[in-house]
Amino acid sequence: MLINVSTLLQEPVGSARDYQVVDEPVSVLEAGYRQSVSGRVHLLRTERGVLVSADFALASRLECARCLLEFEEPVRVRFDEEYVAAETITGEPTEPEADEFRIDEWRHLDLSEAVRQYEQSALPLLPLHREDCAGLCPICGQDWNERRCSCEAAATDSRWGALSGLAEQLRTEESHGAPEA
Ligand SMILES: [Zn+2]
Ligand SMILES: [Zn+2]
Repeated sequence: MLINVSTLLQEPVGSARDYQVVDEPVSVLEAGYRQSVSGRVHLLRTERGVLVSADFALASRLECARCLLEFEEPVRVRFDEEYVAAETITGEPTEPEADEFRIDEWRHLDLSEAVRQYEQSALPLLPLHREDCAGLCPICGQDWNERRCSCEAAATDSRWGALSGLAEQLRTEESHGAPEA
């Protein structure tokens, strides 16, 4: 998502622009990232470049952490980032930090990478397709949201089985007993 700021860069510090975007495609090829955003962008001319204040709505594709279902979740992405130009407003060369966003040589701002990063940080750590998702059976893979399976009961039975086997073994050892002194 490119914004041409060549005229804004010729204006004094404090000059501003506002943009509305609707279903604007965003992509970061290296990261295999594609998205589409709607919302507002405010640009403010600074000493070193342009301060971008963005407020976007987008739909993130997530996978439920319990049942692996893919679903879409509305996410709001808001950020303020200064994009640094090659030169300051007085013509001095800028020295951007490695993690700062740059305005490219054609005087374009590319918001794609910022959208990608801020979307990542806005996502839930444990996405659930719904709060009470029942998840999958770890034994047979049955989706417990659809129906229960009998694995749990069987697992409980075999635990009891193991216990009663142990009890049996203890009784046997007791009856044969350690030889009396
Ligand atoms: Zn789920
Ligand atoms: Zn099961």
